[in-house]
Amino acid sequence: MRYISTRGQSEPLAFDEVLLTGLATDGGLYVPMEWPQYSETDLAEMRGMSYAELLYRVIHPFVDGCIADDRLRVIVDETCAAFRHQAVAPLKQLSAGRWMMELFHGPTLAFKDYALQLVGRLFSEVLAARGERVTIIGATSGDTGSSAIEACRDRDNIDIFILHPQGRVSEVQRRQMTTVASANVHNVAIDGTFDDCQDLVKSLFNDSDARATFRLGAVNSINWARIMAQIVYYAWASLALGGERREVNFAVPTGNFGNIYAGFCARTMGFPVGRLVVGTNQNDILARFMATGEMSILGVSPSLSPSMDIQVSSNFERLLFEAMDRNSEQLRSWMQEFRAAGSARAPQDAWERIRTEFSAHRYDDEDTKSWIDDTWKKTGELVDPHTAIGIAAAADECSDGREPIVSISTAHPAKFPDAVESATGMRPPLPPFLADLFEREERCVSLPNSAEAVVAHIAATLG
Ligand SMILES: *Cc1c(COP(=O)(O)O)cnc(C)c1O
Repeated sequence: MRYISTRGQSEPLAFDEVLLTGLATDGGLYVPMEWPQYSETDLAEMRGMSYAELLYRVIHPFVDGCIADDRLRVIVDETCAAFRHQAVAPLKQLSAGRWMMELFHGPTLAFKDYALQLVGRLFSEVLAARGERVTIIGATSGDTGSSAIEACRDRDNIDIFILHPQGRVSEVQRRQMTTVASANVHNVAIDGTFDDCQDLVKSLFNDSDARATFRLGAVNSINWARIMAQIVYYAWASLALGGERREVNFAVPTGNFGNIYAGFCARTMGFPVGRLVVGTNQNDILARFMATGEMSILGVSPSLSPSMDIQVSSNFERLLFEAMDRNSEQLRSWMQEFRAAGSARAPQDAWERIRTEFSAHRYDDEDTKSWIDDTWKKTGELVDPHTAIGIAAAADECSDGREPIVSISTAHPAKFPDAVESATGMRPPLPPFLADLFEREERCVSLPNSAEAVVAHIAATLG
C-alpha cells in the first residue's frame, strides 16, 4: 500500500514514511492510494472477533509489510492491554435503537488514546528498525498532550516535549501531563495562549537547523496512522449492531474531523456504516458548511467542550478530496482560495455528495448542559460535555429510533467535572487508577513565549 498527498505534488510514500512524516511536503494530507474492500464473507468472518483481532485485521493492509506480522501482533496486543475494559470499546444502550460507544477507557480518559496508544508503539518499532531517534514536539490545549505523553513515555528512541499555555488548561489535564515521571517526557508551560504554543511549534518545524539537529517529529491529528487506528472502532460497532441489510449510523462530537473521517473510511471499505452525523458546539464551521456549502472562518470562542473549539477542521481536506473524485488540482486551487480569503464555496456536486452521507447539528453551552442533565435523568449515565453533543446529535438525527445510531463518547465525565456538576449536581469521581492524581508530584518548566527560549531548553535537556 502506498500513500498519496491530497495536493498531488509529493511523491507517494510507504507506510513507515507516512507515519514519521505526518504532513506531506506539498502541504497536503496523505491518504491510501486505494481502499481495501471487504465482502460480506469477510465481514461475517470478522463479526465476533475480539477488538485486538479486529485491530490487527483492519490495519494489516495499511501497514503492508512495513512491520513483520509477528511484531504487529505483539504491538496490537500491547495496545489493547493498555485499556481498562475487556471490550476495549464497550457499547452501552441508551434507549431503543440508540447506543453510546465509550472511548474513554484508555490511560488519559479521552478517545485520542485509541489512536495514540497504537501510534506510539508503531513509531518506536519503525525507529528501532531504522536505528533512528526522534524528538516529538507538540502543543496542547488539553487532551492531546497527555494522550501523546502516555503513548511515548519510556520509549528508548523518543523524547517528547509538550507545550501548554500556562494557567489555561484544566487542573486535571495539566496534572495528567506533569505527573508522568518518565525521563523522556518534558513538559513546558508557556507564558501565552494555546495559539502562541502552536506558533512556537510551527516556528520550530520551519527552523531547518532545529528540525535537523533535534530530528523533530509530530503525532498531530492529521497523521494518517491515527486515522487508521480509529477506523477500527467504527468497524467494531458496525459489525456488532449492523448486518447485511442494516447499516449503523454514528453521531460524533467533532473538532478537527479526524474521528468522524475514520467512520467515512470504514464505510468506504465496506463496513455497514450508514449516516455520519457531526455534532459541533458554537464553533460551528462544519454545521454552517453542511447547511450552505460555504466554508468560512470565524473567531474561536471558548465553550464547555474545549477539545472542539476549533477554527478550521484540518482533516476535512481528506473528505473534500474524495468528494472531488480525488482531483488534486481542483482541491489545491480550492484550498488556496480558502486560505487566501478565509472562505470558499465548495463545488455544487462535491457539497451534494457530502450531504448524502453527512449531516451536522450545532449545540451551544446551554444545550450541552441540558443534554448532560437529560441523559443523567433518563439513563443514570453521567456524560462529559463533548459526549453530550454526540448524544444530542444522535437524537436530533434519528428521532424514530428505527435505525441503530451510535453516539461516540469521547471523554470520561471526570475530565470535565465542573460542567457535569453544574448540569446535574453530581460530581463525577476520577477512576481508581487516577484517584491520587492530585497528590502526585508535578514536573514542568515555565518559559516565555519565545522560540529561542524553547530551542535553548530543548538543546539543554537533550544534552
Ligand atoms: C479531540 C477531541 C474531540 C474532537 O475530535 P476530532 O477528531 O478533532 O474531530 C472531541 N472530544 C474530545 C474529548 C476530544 O479530546
